[in-house]
Amino acid sequence: MKTTVLNLLRENSEHISGEEISKIIGVTRAAVWKSVKKLQEEGYVIESKTKLGYKLIEEADVVTSDVLRPLFENNNLGQVVHYEQKVDSTNEVAKKLARNEGIEGTIVIADIQESGKGRLGRTWISPPKTGIWMSIILKPEIRPQYASQLTLLGGMCMCMAIRNITKLDAQIKWPNDIVIGNKKVCGILTEMSAEMERINYIVLGIGVNVNQNEFDSSIPHASSLKVEGGMEYKRSEIIKEFIDVFEEVYEKYKKDQDFTKFLPLYKSMCITLDKEVKIIEGNKESVGYSKDISKDGDLIVTTENGEDKSILSGEVSVRGLYGYI
Ligand code: ADP
Repeated sequence: MKTTVLNLLRENSEHISGEEISKIIGVTRAAVWKSVKKLQEEGYVIESKTKLGYKLIEEADVVTSDVLRPLFENNNLGQVVHYEQKVDSTNEVAKKLARNEGIEGTIVIADIQESGKGRLGRTWISPPKTGIWMSIILKPEIRPQYASQLTLLGGMCMCMAIRNITKLDAQIKWPNDIVIGNKKVCGILTEMSAEMERINYIVLGIGVNVNQNEFDSSIPHASSLKVEGGMEYKRSEIIKEFIDVFEEVYEKYKKDQDFTKFLPLYKSMCITLDKEVKIIEGNKESVGYSKDISKDGDLIVTTENGEDKSILSGEVSVRGLYGYI
């Protein structure tokens, strides 16, 4: 009913009266009014004028399955969109689905994520509706040791998607955070279930700060696209752009299984290179100079005693010497 009213509003560029809508769909005018109110509560801007009726002024920033699913009609990924208003963690929901009927490309998304996860047991702060809290199920036929490359590619594609939509100068902080200026706007947490030679599934968990105005004091290095760009962005638009960009990269990667093809592009967007960095492994910290990214996606760092060391993603955190980056 609500969706039918919405579609009628979408089809009419001018006002359409409550009476007309009620006749078309065969319900009372009061029922039409109720649907309009619900839509307004969801964030659709609907003008209501006596005598003239209703007019849709602006689409809402909705990420439910009935809004997202049609966007992926021509994609391979996104054929299933599993929306829940509130979850503990989209990665947890996605892993449960992936173990059962969840097919490759399933998108799990929520408006409210109560226990968002970061890497190494950290938390990801996810205020209601203002960010993209989603996980994508992937079931690629690649060797398990290559899974971390997909994390890097996921970060690279989100960086491109953010650049395309916002025109902001987004960059990758190795391995897969997205930063703008000195601030983190997106984090990615990849989880995998695998056997020796075979991946059962990968869950690519993505958190993007989209429309927050302010941040918890525990994350002074965080920012949002809105803070950086000075305007609000539609979560659905960023998600669509990401799926388009990622799908192309992912298909190529699965076909050739050659990460080096993407390495020049990744490096060109990576802010962690040619820098003094601090490497944090548990409670051990060391300092080095980040000089390259290997063909497998590891960070090559020259340590203080002049040796080159390969750092694997997933095990460590890298910080700039004088701040977050
Ligand atoms: P890193 O290795 O850079 O610490 P993680 O991938 O482990 O990053 O992400 C978790 C960390 O990100 C948390 O410890 C916290 O500092 C930070 N964080 C948590 N929520 C957010 C957020 N919404 N935006 C930016 N940073 C966040």
